[in-house]
Amino acid sequence: MGTSPLLKLLVITLLAGIKTRSSDPAALRSTSLLSIPLHGQFTFDDISKAATDFGNRVHHVPSAVLHPGSVADVAATTRRVFQLGPNSKLTIAARGRGHSLHGQAQAPDGIVVRMESLRRAQTMWVHTGQEPYVDAPGGELWIDLLRETLKQGLAPKSWTDYLHLTVGGTLSNAGISGQAFRHGPQISNVRQLEVVTGKGDIMNCSAEANADLYHAVLGGLGQFGIITRARIELEPAPKMVKWMRVLYSDFRSFTEDQEMLVSAENTFDYIEGFVIINRSGILRNWGSSFSTQFPAQASQFVSEGKTLFCLEMAKNFDPTNPEKMKQEMVELLSRLRYIPYTLFKTEVSYLEFLDRLHSSERKLRSKGLWEVPRPWLNLLVPRSSVHFFADNVFGKIITDTSNGPILLYPMNRSNWDNRTSAVIPNEDVFYLVAFLSSTPASSGQNSFEAVLKQNEKILKLCESANIQTKQYLPHYTKLEEWRDHFGSRWEAFQRRKQDYDPLAILAPGHRIFHKAM
Ligand code: FAD
Repeated sequence: MGTSPLLKLLVITLLAGIKTRSSDPAALRSTSLLSIPLHGQFTFDDISKAATDFGNRVHHVPSAVLHPGSVADVAATTRRVFQLGPNSKLTIAARGRGHSLHGQAQAPDGIVVRMESLRRAQTMWVHTGQEPYVDAPGGELWIDLLRETLKQGLAPKSWTDYLHLTVGGTLSNAGISGQAFRHGPQISNVRQLEVVTGKGDIMNCSAEANADLYHAVLGGLGQFGIITRARIELEPAPKMVKWMRVLYSDFRSFTEDQEMLVSAENTFDYIEGFVIINRSGILRNWGSSFSTQFPAQASQFVSEGKTLFCLEMAKNFDPTNPEKMKQEMVELLSRLRYIPYTLFKTEVSYLEFLDRLHSSERKLRSKGLWEVPRPWLNLLVPRSSVHFFADNVFGKIITDTSNGPILLYPMNRSNWDNRTSAVIPNEDVFYLVAFLSSTPASSGQNSFEAVLKQNEKILKLCESANIQTKQYLPHYTKLEEWRDHFGSRWEAFQRRKQDYDPLAILAPGHRIFHKAM
């Protein structure tokens, strides 16, 4: 006899670790929070949803979800929680799209602020002129921001690989992609912010006014304030993009070429890379979206059992003058040492290029493979250690990449502002190495537990070899680990917390600071 649907639901819920709870406004009623006049509203029937995120591992149920109808709603709620003082356990987490991995946008028994509601109440302003910019709500999705700025022929300069993330969410981390080598992370391209601090004050800040708050909030993991508006620099939007991939079998040539490209004046507009271990039919798969001059060799190319490195590049171009782009490309490609017949290329619009991951999302969603556990590990590895790291990880700790891609690309430290809260390795060039595993399987070598063990091995390797890596989208469980992460900047991070969120009300999901009780 089959298992009853009710039992199945119970088992699934227990496995997912979601503490289901009936809505209970009473917890807030005693705090007088529900009597605050709001443009938006508190809800209680969606608390389980606010206890989930992309990582699918951590599920902390809040007491309520605030759907703010104005910035004043965010400020009034935060101020009231601040006024309750240290004896109240209430905390507040801004939630963008909930694309965090470890409950960073959750607030156990607290209030989750759905920033997407605020985005509907606020308008986006695109300012044209000599130094164009867009004023965008903190809960705006980058894809919608892009669509709006493209109407004026403009676009932001620095991106993430995936655009269905919010402005406030990525600016709380850094926001990196293949343009960061030139423009820095997204946090290097913000002129001004409007922020609600942990005391409930609405403050405007920039490099000129309230500069400490401005720098604290950028890359600040939501610890110092809720970003309700951001002024983001724009540039004339490219129309078309030549998008290319080539393969290397030798890690040294691959990274030397990447480093040459990210330091050159005339270079590609986007430079990334990824590691492919023991995958079959790589070039055949590329053939469905890219074209090659050498289909016969490509179809015979054997990728099984090999560790390969893909350099991914893009060159923006004006379709009315494709010749210029072609000449530049020929010159740039002639400087690279990839396996000759592995050059694959295509041409797409700028919007299609930037939103390239969305079609994969749709496919995965249709197969039920989007909402699965994601034991991701993102590391920033100093250039001086990247060869040791690769020698000991690829093919040894990681023996295939069937669980998901491993991104690997360099960035220049000079484009990061060390006054912000973002933490990066102390070398001129460092690499993002992103292990982006998905684990639908519940057992075996591709299971969630197996991948967690691999991640631990990688972290232990870095520790025992004293490689000064930094986690990107950091996750730690102990205070000492957070101190190590921030290193010499810990004192400043702590002082800023004291100044802007002294009761540790904001972003409790990172578990850096704890509200005193
Ligand atoms: P959430 O996960 O909702 O929030 C993240 C943190 O920021 C939480 O602590 C939250 O409390 C806080 N927060 C949210 N909104 C605000 C706000 N308005 N003000 C203050 N604090 C706030 N990152 C990259 O840099 N580059 C990439 O290429 C990239 N690719 C990704 C691809 C996918 C498929 C996914 C799922 C994530 C990717 N990320 C990438 C990571 C992404 O930057 C983080 O997930 C980030 O948290 C943004 O997601 P979100 O907007 O849903 O924010």
